[in-house]
Amino acid sequence: MRLYSTKNKENKVDLSKAVLKGLPEDNGLYMPDDIPTLPQEFIQNIKEYSFQDIALKVCSTLLKDSIPQNDLKDIVYGAIDFPAPLIQMDAQKYILELFHGPSLAFKDFGARFMARLMSYFNRGNNRELVILVATSGDTGGAVAAGFYKTPGIKVVILYPSGKVSHLQEKQLTTLGHNITALEVDGTFDDCQALVKKAFLDNELTNKIRLTSANSINIARLIPQTFYYFEAYKQLENPSDVVFCVPSGNFGNLTAGLLASKMGLPVHKFIAATNSNNVVPAYLGSGTYSPRPSVRTISNAMDVGNPSNFARMEDLYGFTWNNMKQEIEGYSYTDKETEEGMKEVKAKYDYTIDPHGAVGYMALKEYQKDNPNTQGIILETAHPSKFLPDVERILGYTPNIPARLAELRDRKKEAIWTKNNYEDFKKWLLGSY
Ligand SMILES: *Cc1c(COP(=O)(O)O)cnc(C)c1O
Repeated sequence: MRLYSTKNKENKVDLSKAVLKGLPEDNGLYMPDDIPTLPQEFIQNIKEYSFQDIALKVCSTLLKDSIPQNDLKDIVYGAIDFPAPLIQMDAQKYILELFHGPSLAFKDFGARFMARLMSYFNRGNNRELVILVATSGDTGGAVAAGFYKTPGIKVVILYPSGKVSHLQEKQLTTLGHNITALEVDGTFDDCQALVKKAFLDNELTNKIRLTSANSINIARLIPQTFYYFEAYKQLENPSDVVFCVPSGNFGNLTAGLLASKMGLPVHKFIAATNSNNVVPAYLGSGTYSPRPSVRTISNAMDVGNPSNFARMEDLYGFTWNNMKQEIEGYSYTDKETEEGMKEVKAKYDYTIDPHGAVGYMALKEYQKDNPNTQGIILETAHPSKFLPDVERILGYTPNIPARLAELRDRKKEAIWTKNNYEDFKKWLLGSY
């Protein structure tokens, strides 16, 4: 497998470089230079495959000979060791639960796969790899759990003090071992600025092998294609299948587009957003106008300039008309999102989280005009991750899975850090 930069198709690298570097120097994004189609009989007989076997088949088709089959099998089976069940709501609506991993969000798929791939490509290198991540919530928890005890890799997570939820903070600060949390006296943007500055600091990068675990890394996108196939498999009689994807940076939706290019029969994709509606607005008007994000109750989707939009444009040959034929966009306010959560509880006795509720509203609206479709909403996180809002809106406490509940009593360990680059750099040099 070779990958090019969306800014320059001649700039090609192998998978190892794309994964360890994350971003090409020209600031584009890596894309596979060839997206192979799966054999027809694989789709026809998909019910006979386990989730892990589907994952391996899709992965080895896309990666070609980048990794020997036996090694790839260990990586895929190790990463994809929890299910993605499809729950039927009514004759037309389904929910794909993507929160059965360690951090209770779909980001576990990407983080676990990326950790194993990085470790694989880093083997035999006697210098350890130090991963820097800034997080506003969900990413940090998935990366911490995904890289926990990964040989040869240390992780430093920067998070804004007082601005992530209590349980999210516990997900970052209670693991220890190769995971270190820095509690920054600043905002998420300050954390991100510290990380960016570190990557550009030659004195630092000459001494420490730094890399990022950002969502733009192709290693996070690849495993997200797997569960689209797994969802399709679980439909009794799949026809006119629509995937509705609650979106922020659009990594999840882009993975769906890759799955469809590889031969998964998809009738339509729905891009569902909160008030940060840059992509639905683009699909409606043909004009892309990024702008600063606004805060909502589905805060993992508060993105004003989605990083994977460049990949979506690339897949559609930079042609609005092509993109809007396959993707429909809808956006909802917090008030509508809250109504969606209440309606899902009342109608289906199901507790959906605020991100999934945005997806529910979008699918409902789409199916008004397209009633004979089978719609699958990607439920991106477990409702208990957003406890205060869910309790306020629904008036009860959702079931809290044991792996989250037990964090409450664990001791937080974080290093208090001023929002000051020189201090941060000194700490890095002293620690690694
Ligand atoms: C990250 C996240 C999203 C947004 O996913 P993208 O791939 O960035 O579009 C949606 N919901 C939850 C719960 C998330 O953590």
